[in-house]
Amino acid sequence: MNIHEYQAKKILAGFGVKVPRGHVAFTPDEAVAGAKALGSAVFVVKAQIHAGGRGKGGGVKVVKSVEEVREEARRMLGMTLVTKQTGPAGKEVKRIYVEEGCNIARELYLGMVIDRATGRVTMMASTEGGMEIEEVAARTPEKILKEAVDPAVGFQAYQARNLAFGLGLAGPQVNKGVQFMTALYNAFVATDASLAEINPLVVTGDGDVMALDAKMNFDGNALYRHPDIRELRDLDEENPLEVEASRHELNYISLEGTIGCMVNGAGLAMATMDIIKLKGAAPANFLDVGGGATTESVTAALQLILSDSSVKGVLINIFGGIMRCDVIADGVVAAARKVDVKVPLVVRLAGTNVDLGKEILKKSGLAIIPADDLDDAATKVVAAIQ
Ligand code: ADP
Ligand code: MG
Repeated sequence: MNIHEYQAKKILAGFGVKVPRGHVAFTPDEAVAGAKALGSAVFVVKAQIHAGGRGKGGGVKVVKSVEEVREEARRMLGMTLVTKQTGPAGKEVKRIYVEEGCNIARELYLGMVIDRATGRVTMMASTEGGMEIEEVAARTPEKILKEAVDPAVGFQAYQARNLAFGLGLAGPQVNKGVQFMTALYNAFVATDASLAEINPLVVTGDGDVMALDAKMNFDGNALYRHPDIRELRDLDEENPLEVEASRHELNYISLEGTIGCMVNGAGLAMATMDIIKLKGAAPANFLDVGGGATTESVTAALQLILSDSSVKGVLINIFGGIMRCDVIADGVVAAARKVDVKVPLVVRLAGTNVDLGKEILKKSGLAIIPADDLDDAATKVVAAIQ
């Protein structure tokens, strides 16, 4: 789960990570009140969307008066912000953050992830902060320093010092850097984060070390332990179909293609998407209805697929293992009766009671195109949409 910058900063501050003061605002009046409460000489107005690259897209503005804060708030609230991370459609700005301006001496990068190669929480640092870290990683990987944390002992002060020296921190800044990193690590572990990224981490004109930007992601499977973090979920930032799917506990991801897929099991879903591509079309979604698919979940899944206007054909590919094919066929028929299916519907069943399942589909009188195997199913659905 993703949260906004201002929310991440609040969580991090609770663990002792240094951040600028700021106030969230949903209206220009709230932004003005926030600026007045800050009382600083310089303000930064920042669009709050779940995407980075806001600075380049016009979503971060440095201003010098409360009146300018009002102007920027009026301009940003309601605007569609397009950044490298939002895609061309952009994201509507519904809230902004008014923060005190910071006198920046250096912009650095600090990030934490769980490194899948080592299976360890890893802190990464780079002097190339502020810009796109992905570019730095691709072109000059040696400029990214890494410290993997041994879970038995946690993040060690010497590791923080290694990174601090690597970042060129000197004198009292070293200890400030060490404190910052330690606090970031503590926050990461305590909140079951999967990512914490500070870009830029800055050294201020006064020699302070603080976070000017903050991005945090959390492990969805650990959210039950963090009801306060779960509260921060902003459904406006998520794909509406994915939100609907999560209500039915379906694993669903929207994609760009035209063939809606309903499959049980993530591996089979991936294979189905691959073969659709191989046959010259593209999947409109990834959808795993899970091992224990019921009539209800099959209906919900079919409804979800058909509510996507880019879907021109549907491929249902179910393997009856624990679940019997006749039960699935009943589910598909019931779902297809309930939902008005206007596009070609190809169904491939395999496994336990497959003949019975096929019989049920045939007798239903519905315009279902039966398929014998995965290849046949993909060929038929791609042909049907042409
Ligand atoms: P994004 O990564 O989405 O572009 P950032 O929060 O990193 O947004 O802001 C972009 C840039 O704006 C930063 O690299 C920094 O130069 C500047 N900036 C952000 N917040 C402040 C602040 N409080 N004071 C001064 N400059 C800031
Ligand atoms: Mg940033």
